[in-house]
Amino acid sequence: MKATSTIQNLIRENIKNIQPYASARDEFTEVNSELVFLDANENPFENGMNRYPDPQQQKVKQLLSEIKSVSIENILLGNGSDEVLDLIFRAFCEPNKDNIILLPPTYGMYKVLADINAIDVIEVQLTADFQPKTQTILLAANQKSKLLFLCSPNNPTGNSFSRVQVEKILRQFNGIVVLDEAYIDFSEQESWLNRLEEFPNLIISQTMSKAYGMAGIRLGVCYASKEIINVLNSIKPPYNVNALTQQKALDRLNRMDKIQKEIQLIKLQKEVLLKELKQIDFVEEVVPSDANFLLIKVDNPTKRYQQLIEKGIVVRNRSNQPLCENCLRISIGTEKENEQLIKVLRKLSK
Ligand SMILES: *Cc1c(COP(=O)(O)O)cnc(C)c1O
Repeated sequence: MKATSTIQNLIRENIKNIQPYASARDEFTEVNSELVFLDANENPFENGMNRYPDPQQQKVKQLLSEIKSVSIENILLGNGSDEVLDLIFRAFCEPNKDNIILLPPTYGMYKVLADINAIDVIEVQLTADFQPKTQTILLAANQKSKLLFLCSPNNPTGNSFSRVQVEKILRQFNGIVVLDEAYIDFSEQESWLNRLEEFPNLIISQTMSKAYGMAGIRLGVCYASKEIINVLNSIKPPYNVNALTQQKALDRLNRMDKIQKEIQLIKLQKEVLLKELKQIDFVEEVVPSDANFLLIKVDNPTKRYQQLIEKGIVVRNRSNQPLCENCLRISIGTEKENEQLIKVLRKLSK
């Protein structure tokens, strides 16, 4: 991003000086069990959940800050990545005026959020080997291009983007680059987290839904400059991460050893599955994956999808996505689940 387009210039006019909702827990932040809290109209009888949750989720952020070596003021938590991404749209994109840039095939939620927020989408397809066309992207951008979404490792293709291309985009795009690292913990590539300070226009989105095994609690994590985090904080619903989610997240983050073990097992299983898939006669191609799923090209995706369903295995048909003709996406399961899949595939294979 050039110095001429500062973050302040990118923020929507009505958001710049917005007066955020001040909750009872924002106004009085001291947590002390000796105090008598009569400020939030809560039911006073203790049942473990009768109090509002911490609006700033300090304990969860403290743990994440230690695990990821990022300071707390660079972290914002949301009700899944979905909420984090929606907050980014609402902070920077003026409905019916601004646009965003997407690089299909990619995660479907970006387009849905753009549509909900009445934001135009400029699409620049990835290359045949699923890398960003940097020059074309930069040429396609205009003054109203506020956000550019990079998903790396990318869903549904599974590959990571070239670091050289990502850096070029970060340096030359005049809006915010949202780097979705939902699958980064499975990747052989390093996260861009340790380079956050170099790029004032970089927002990194991560999640507890995939490698961290907590899709059910809905916890999305956003890392960015203090300036960007402050803007997002000013528009987020005050109690956007509920108490049950915060508790479950803490329990899980205190067991990083367990998480790391599971990631290792999934990566190992990916290699096993990769080898097996190459033996199946109707599998024409397996895309190299840096994530916890494999995109495979088959002879007839509708037929193969249906055959798998009949054997009790549900995969995702992605063949309607650009550049994904005849492709199925398969998540890596447990060893037992993968064996079941392989058994079925072998039977279907001549
Ligand atoms: C699964 C996924 C997410 C996670 O979304 P949550 O709302 O946090 O569950 C985000 N981005 C991509 C690309 C994904 O595939």
